[in-house]
Amino acid sequence: MNIVLLGGPGSGKGTVSNLFEKTQNMGHIATGDMFREEIKNGTELGKKAQEYMDKGNLVPDEITINMLKGKMHEFEGSNGVVFDGFPRNKKQAEALDKMLEEQNQKVDLVIFLDIPDEDIIYRTTKRRICSNKECGAIYNLEYKKPKVEGICDVCGSELIQRKDDNEETITERLRVYHEQSKELIEYYEKKKLLYRVQLHANVNITKEMISEWLENYKANR
Ligand code: AMP
Repeated sequence: MNIVLLGGPGSGKGTVSNLFEKTQNMGHIATGDMFREEIKNGTELGKKAQEYMDKGNLVPDEITINMLKGKMHEFEGSNGVVFDGFPRNKKQAEALDKMLEEQNQKVDLVIFLDIPDEDIIYRTTKRRICSNKECGAIYNLEYKKPKVEGICDVCGSELIQRKDDNEETITERLRVYHEQSKELIEYYEKKKLLYRVQLHANVNITKEMISEWLENYKANR
């Protein structure tokens, strides 16, 4: 099963992906993480992407789609993939359909994490992530605190704040999100793949919630 996660910055896409990875043994593709890795490694692609990311803008479609094309084969043997942060617009959604079609696959479900803007600002400014990429645990200083300040509960690595999780960049990311997401939601609504989940500021997403969403979705198809 291939799942696309839609939702604004800080809506919980990373947390949901981590849970799917662990409970359903699925692959996880997060284009934002891929770009951050390129930046960390000082590659040309990373340098180009950073210019856009620092401003809260989207990296151009061509760069993003090409990067993803080069990575898709890594997930061929997995039990489906969770797409987190891709697609961000209709053009990317069409490109994803094509990429999956080439592997005789398709998007099976789209989960839309719907959360009010003010809650997004609250969640992202208080978000901390594990610096160990293999771990990828996500915390919130208000409602999902680590046991020891600044240290990941799971692997003991240092917790860091994403460079673009500041109020100014988030405001721009939100604007871009609203501009692009409408057509994307419509695209998947038409295909009858969209499952909408209403969230708010302090919701800590759990594996039980995810099982419930999957059951509801299957029951109402
Ligand atoms: P994220 O980690 O998904 O919040 O993404 C962080 C930043 O990476 C975004 O603000 C964009 O600048 C860039 N980015 C991630 N995914 C995409 C995408 N699918 N298309 C364009 N830019 C992206």
